This record gives sequence, structure tokens and C-alpha cells, in this order.
Amino acid sequence: MKIKQNISLKRYTTLGIGGPAEYFCCVKTLSELKQAFMFAKQNVLPVTVMGGGSNVLIADAGVQGLVICVAHDTCVISGNRIVVGAGMSLDKLVEMSVKKNLRGLENLSGIPGTIGGAIYGNARAFGGSIGDMVRQVVFFDCNGVKKSFSQDACGFSYGTSVFKQKQGEMPGVIWQVELFLDVGSNMPWEKMNLRQAIIAYRNVRYPPKNKSAGCFFGNAAAGMFSPNFLSKLPRFAKSQKEIGAGYLLEQAGVAGKKIGGAQIMRHQANYFVNAGSATALDVIKLAQFAQKKVFERFGVRLQHEVRLMGFDRDPFAESCPQVSGA
Ligand SMILES: Cc1cc2nc3c(=O)[nH]c(=O)nc-3n(C[C@H](O)[C@H](O)[C@H](O)COP(=O)(O)OP(=O)(O)OC[C@H]3O[C@@H](n4cnc5c(N)ncnc54)[C@H](O)[C@@H]3O)c2cc1C
Repeated sequence: MKIKQNISLKRYTTLGIGGPAEYFCCVKTLSELKQAFMFAKQNVLPVTVMGGGSNVLIADAGVQGLVICVAHDTCVISGNRIVVGAGMSLDKLVEMSVKKNLRGLENLSGIPGTIGGAIYGNARAFGGSIGDMVRQVVFFDCNGVKKSFSQDACGFSYGTSVFKQKQGEMPGVIWQVELFLDVGSNMPWEKMNLRQAIIAYRNVRYPPKNKSAGCFFGNAAAGMFSPNFLSKLPRFAKSQKEIGAGYLLEQAGVAGKKIGGAQIMRHQANYFVNAGSATALDVIKLAQFAQKKVFERFGVRLQHEVRLMGFDRDPFAESCPQVSGA
């Protein structure tokens, strides 16, 4: 395995934005992962972990230290038990599970990125989350020490997991995941049809030609809004616990807004794209603008879901105070 220097990270992200990694490597095997950790330790380098780069915004100045791209993609399916490397494509795993007539992952069809990234942010769609199907996660800390996490210990909830919440305290790599799916009671083609319908829907919502990182902000907790406000909301804009960030952004009038090469899509106001040669700064300015507009309209501060890498400080930390909303 080669550890390279000064590698542009643009092509490792779906947004196509970002400066270089000081050091960079892709790890496929455990021995490569351990070599990478050793290199970081010997050279006193901070470690940043990436999967498919579909939920990250990388600073224009790049990322200091060692960026490890996880490419461990082995997969064994026996009955309804799956043991998969964190670097495997989530969508590929969904397809394999559907072909084997296993149930539980099909709602996640078409989500870009790897299993590791999906575990980190508890990837979800159409009411299903990957965390629901997890039995165990194998994690290596930056000293190369192996730790196993049961489903409960993973602390999955909306858009998060213990790996995200405690990243500062326990830096490391999600390496392998064990999932237990349900044995399908319906016909395999029914699941395949559902998968294809979801992919077709997603292709309209997130046209594959667009460079994006998916939804920029997470949904807002329903508890931040008054019962009166909630009762007036259209059904599509809310679930029991959340109000769609896309709805709030659209109501705040930011759909279609463009700053530099970064643009908010008209049909989905939580969908930010690199419409040309956007810089990370363009995206940050656009997101700050959108966040402020929502705050002015609803008194709620949206939290960014996209992970920022290489920034000295969180550019959203002080944009607007956190108070309860409309
Ligand atoms: C068009 C589009 C549509 C999307 N739709 C959805 C959707 O419907 N639902 C949804 O949940 N998400 C969606 N996303 C966001 C994204 O695809 C998911 O969050 C995905 O799970 C991220 O995986 P990744 O491998 O690309 O992670 P990356 O973007 O590479 O990383 C994201 C975070 O995970 C961490 N990470 C990644 N791999 C590991 C690892 N092995 N060990 C430790 N940490 C790791 C990184 O450090 C980073 O903090 C969408 C994105 C796009 C571009």
C-alpha cells in the first residue's frame, strides 16, 4: 500500500469540491489499515476517514494529516446473515440482498456511499434505517485496537450513531459490519420492483448528473415548533418527530439561490449542488444564507448534516442562536 502526498480530494467526493490531503491512502486489508495507523502515529498526524465521499464538504485548503479512504469490500452472505466490509458500496449490498430475497435494506436503494459511511450517519430513506438491521460493528481505534459494538452500543438514532457522536473521543475506522435481514415472505421480483421504483424516484429527485452531497441540512425536531404551527403544516412536510428541512428552506424562499458555483435546487431546497466550479467557500456562504433565512422565518437553526472536513472551526457554530421555533 502506498501513502501518497498532496492528493486532490475532489475526485473522491460526489460534490467534486475540496483541496488536497496532506497524506492519503486507500486501505483494503487489515494489514494496510494497521500500516496506515502506524504511519500516522510515527509522524504525529491527525487521521481523517472517508468512505464514498457522498456526505462530505472538504475545505478549499484541503485536509492536514492522513486521509484514509476505506476500501475493505469483502462480503459473505449466509442465510439471512451478512458480514460485509465497511468499504463496500451500500447500494451494491442492497442489490445483492434483494436478489437473495432478503428484506430490510430495500428502502435504502440508490443511496450513494459505503457501508461505513452509512453506519456512521445511520443512512435512512422511506422509513428504513441501516441501523435497524445491524447486529454488530467491528471498529478499530487509531492505535489499531479492535472494538466490537452491538446494535444497542452503536446508539443509532436519526442521522447519527455513537461513531459520529463520539468521534472526538474515539477516532478510528468502522471496519466490518454484521447485519441480520428478514427472510422475505413475498416474491423476489416484488422487492426488485420496489428497488427499481425507488431508484427511478431518486433519479428524478437527485439527477445523477448533478454533483451534490445529498441533503445539506438535517430535519428539525418537531418539538421546537408550537402545536399551533404544527397543526397547520401539510402532511408531506412533517413526521411525528421531525419537520422536513426542505420544507422550511422552501418556505424561507431560498430555492434556486446561487452563490458563486453553488446552487440550491428549485425542486428540492435542501439539495445543494456544485453547478460549475464551486468552491467550498461558495457552499458555506450559500448554506449560511439559507440557515439565516430559515432562522428569520421560523426561529429555528438548522443543523448541517454534511460532514465538514479540513475546516479550522465549524463555520455554522455562531451563525444564529438556538431558540425554540415558530
Ligand atoms: C445524491 C445523494 C442522495 C443521498 N440520499 C441520501 C438518503 O436518502 N439518505 C441518507 O441517509 N443519506 C443520503 N445521502 C448522503 C450519503 O450518501 C450518506 O450519508 C452515505 O451513507 C455516506 O456514505 P459515504 O461512504 O459516502 O461517507 P463519506 O461521505 O465518505 O463520509 C461521511 C462521514 O462518515 C465517516 N465515515 C465514512 N466511512 C467511515 C468508516 N469506515 N469508519 C469511520 N467513519 C467513516 C466520515 O469520516 C464522514 O464523517 C445522499 C447523498 C447524495 C450525494
